[in-house]
Amino acid sequence: MTAVTKKDPAGMDAEVREKIHLEILKRTGAYHANDHILLPSGQHTSEYIEKTLVTTEPSFIEGLGAVIAKHFAQWPTDVVLSTGPGAVILSHCVARAHPSRPVAVYGTKGMVSGRRRVTLPVEFQRLIRPGTKVLLIEDLISSGTTARLLLDLVERLGGHVVGIGCLWRRTSVDLEGRLVFSLVSRDFPTHPPETCPLCKKGVPLNQEFVRRRQTRRPSSAQEAKTE
Ligand SMILES: [Zn+2]
Repeated sequence: MTAVTKKDPAGMDAEVREKIHLEILKRTGAYHANDHILLPSGQHTSEYIEKTLVTTEPSFIEGLGAVIAKHFAQWPTDVVLSTGPGAVILSHCVARAHPSRPVAVYGTKGMVSGRRRVTLPVEFQRLIRPGTKVLLIEDLISSGTTARLLLDLVERLGGHVVGIGCLWRRTSVDLEGRLVFSLVSRDFPTHPPETCPLCKKGVPLNQEFVRRRQTRRPSSAQEAKTE
């Protein structure tokens, strides 16, 4: 079993394939480049991926899900597991295209005893048992925290993770030695404001994405409801 093959049967090399996937993400408006963007961490960058827009085009996301499913087709899979709205849509598309015809379930993120955790809704718990083969699906892997929480969930239930599939992988951080397949593997450098080259050039700072995140917090959603 090899993790990465340089050429697929169609003779297309990995680099070309990645460019095609990047173009598809650009078409959805999710990928921003050549900008000067403030990140929630306070760092500045020239590229950004807006996760919520990734899954807006059903035919695109179905096609991308099928590519991930094809990659993992050689590994028998019982369950496709994800968490978060974008990843759930993608995982449905992966499960639909995988030859094992796995079921697709999702976990919910939350705090358990002061620690971040992903838990499985009670009605899904009978689906992941000792020995169940689980494929994890993420939309964007940045620090790898969510992927690790999903791994932890499967292991707590006695299941076996066959691999991790995602649309975009920003980090090369090792996810406990698991096979990770991403359609795009691309990190973009981030800079603290003091040493940011774009600040030095006087490029205006785009704060739009941080503003949008702030208005999505649960407290502002409640305020909106009472209006
Ligand atoms: Zn800057």
